[in-house]
Amino acid sequence: MPGMLGQVLRNLFSRPVTRNYPAEPKTPFRAARGTLMLDIDKCIVCGACEKACPAGAIEVKPKEHLYKYDPYSCIVCGNCVEACPTHCFDITSEWRKPVEKMETMVWEVTRSKERARRTS
Ligand code: SF4
Ligand code: SF4
Repeated sequence: MPGMLGQVLRNLFSRPVTRNYPAEPKTPFRAARGTLMLDIDKCIVCGACEKACPAGAIEVKPKEHLYKYDPYSCIVCGNCVEACPTHCFDITSEWRKPVEKMETMVWEVTRSKERARRTS
């Protein structure tokens, strides 16, 4: 009983171990793998990222000029970041924001210098 009383007193006068979320959001760790970012304008439609992706989150169709990325299948492993010869990818430490509808991102992309166009 005296041991328990000591614990109660310690709890009363110490800082809480939990965070008052969302009023106090957590700062991500520096190397946290939060969100995969893609600069589609650097893409040469080589398909290396698709081959490297263990989650099947990327689909590259050079003949149809299509590049599809499903952010909700992506496990942010970073394989595509390593595989991409033109450094299209970056991983930020911020978590992806919640959404009401999960959508695959689709771009129309060519090997020319034209800007890629997001189609969905
Ligand atoms: S980070 Fe990993 S899972 Fe996500 S698209 Fe790249 S290779 Fe696929
Ligand atoms: S590896 Fe890079 S350049 Fe090649 S298709 Fe993927 S994003 Fe485009």
